[in-house]
Amino acid sequence: MAKEEKKDDFEQATKVLKRVLPMMVQNHIPARPDHYSVWYSYVAKNNFDLVREMDDVVASVGSCSELKSEILYKKYIASEGEKKLDFLKKEIETLVSEISSNIDDTTRGTDVFQVKLNKSFSKLASIENGEMSIEETLGVIRDVVKNSKEIAKTVDVFSLQLKKADNEINKLKQQIADIQRDAKTDGLTNLFNRRAFDLEIAHLIMLEHPFSIVMGDIDRFKLLNDNYGHVMGDTALKSVAGVFQNSCREGATSYRYGGEEIVMLLPDTKLAVARQIAESMRRKIEKLSIVSKDSGKKINNISASFGVAEYQKDDNEISLIKRVDKLLYEAKRLGRNRVMPMSM
Ligand code: GH3
Ligand code: MG
Ligand code: MG
Repeated sequence: MAKEEKKDDFEQATKVLKRVLPMMVQNHIPARPDHYSVWYSYVAKNNFDLVREMDDVVASVGSCSELKSEILYKKYIASEGEKKLDFLKKEIETLVSEISSNIDDTTRGTDVFQVKLNKSFSKLASIENGEMSIEETLGVIRDVVKNSKEIAKTVDVFSLQLKKADNEINKLKQQIADIQRDAKTDGLTNLFNRRAFDLEIAHLIMLEHPFSIVMGDIDRFKLLNDNYGHVMGDTALKSVAGVFQNSCREGATSYRYGGEEIVMLLPDTKLAVARQIAESMRRKIEKLSIVSKDSGKKINNISASFGVAEYQKDDNEISLIKRVDKLLYEAKRLGRNRVMPMSM
């Protein structure tokens, strides 16, 4: 982003901030990030539906409550992942309260049984004193058997409920794992996303684990979009991502780094080998051919440029990415459709 643009953004944000805070105070909204994002969007008017709904609320009730602000956050601002997690949290809460009420019922049942059993035992104690007839003794024993059957039934029901709850919990666990995976995946290319990349590179650097990085960028992609439209552009990007995905040797992972930039992290891989992999991807991308289903138009001149670098002991994320980015820029400057550094 250019310096001037950043300055404009900053000034705009400051202007909005000065209006947002007094509004939040006036409506008794706590200064939390979720609420702030709602009121920021409202003042900056960057979400038409949110502005309309907030205006309707204020017009009918006179102010916007904390609860309504939370609802607006969930409806218009929270990401799909957050919404799903919120839903799962509620499911888990319901499940936990169901189990604890079942435990209460069962405990109550066993307490009653304990009292009845104690009574029967003390009655049976009088057999020894010869105070009970055979019929009376059999009656007490019949009671014990009946009560035992009842309690066994309660415990059976409870253990069935526990089994069910266990299944539910496993299902919820799987759903949470899916959401966590989605949060690291890029929806268009199905590659891991930038967030996953940032975490993985930081991890490798923290461990000082040897690795190389390949950064690829589609050549003249803007022109491709202009000539063939964004849908074809997306298809081309997916195909290039596929080349990265299929070229990941064991342990390597590809990520969508930015718009049309894709990176591969290759643990335990020397620069020369990483360079060969980049070169092989470059050749595969050159051979890609994409046909539009609608217009029948064909693109077969896709290419990409690459920078390749190997982690050095004193590198951090910034220095390493700067190095690989500079090499990618060199590849562009020298005419594109090439890998830098040049063959060693
Ligand atoms: P260069 O060879 O120097 O890389 O040229 P370029 O046109 O590829 O680079 P530039 O950075 O000028 O433009 C990148 C373009 O990529 C701009 C943007 O419209 C396009 N782009 C980024 N993400 C996507 C996407 O998800 N889908 C589509 N169709 N286009 C995208
Ligand atoms: Mg680019
Ligand atoms: Mg490009």
